Amino acid sequence: MSEQPRAPARRILIVEDETHLAQGLLFNLQAEGYAVILCADGETALQWLLDEHAAFDAIVLDVMLPGKDGFEVAAALRTAKNYTPVLMLTARSRAEDVLAGFAAGADDYLAKPFDLSILLARLHSLLRRVHWTPTPAAPEVASASVATAPDVFHFAGKRIDFEQLELHTPTRIIRLTLMEADLLRHLVCNAGRAVSRKEILEQVWRLHEDTDTRAIDNFIVRLRRYMEADPAHPVHLQTVRGVGYRFQPEEKSAR
Ligand code: CA
Repeated sequence: MSEQPRAPARRILIVEDETHLAQGLLFNLQAEGYAVILCADGETALQWLLDEHAAFDAIVLDVMLPGKDGFEVAAALRTAKNYTPVLMLTARSRAEDVLAGFAAGADDYLAKPFDLSILLARLHSLLRRVHWTPTPAAPEVASASVATAPDVFHFAGKRIDFEQLELHTPTRIIRLTLMEADLLRHLVCNAGRAVSRKEILEQVWRLHEDTDTRAIDNFIVRLRRYMEADPAHPVHLQTVRGVGYRFQPEEKSAR
């Protein structure tokens, strides 16, 4: 039997203070071939991530932690320009947690209690999307129903690189989170069409309609700061009153 050369195990940091849950995750992720490190509080996790430059491929980050909570940890990481993908664990039916998590820079979320298989699938997807490798000869995948955008989208002197998660403007390069990139991709794929907040919640973020939609507005405010010359008078990310938002690649003002 020939042995496939083994890739080094992906290193996952689990930040969770509930010992039982943390141990369960450790056991199951190790069984999947991951190298797993447990941490029971946010302060220590941040020390490991920032001070000692420990390289992790992904972080499973609980929101409810003693001391610094998950939001603070994620925000501190991103502020320090550490873009290790974060899968945030939130309490069930706390949509505001989910949205606060995205705002803090989390890449994906899972509500507790969760199914282990779902966590594994999300983690796998997060790692695959971040460690993206081009597959030029890949067969057609069944994605006909999914709106597709090119990996790089040019508009009005700017460039969105969906693969590298970067927005290039003439003056700077802005690092996008996966969720920001997903939202932008959806709007770009539907350029010129008004996209409702409900559609964004359901199709981009997999949240239900009863979620407070103001969080989307906060997201749009941030994206406007990235890409609009005058964020108070947006030309690309236009508000469609009573509906939602519309992406307009050309520099023509909304009426
Ligand atoms: Ca906890």
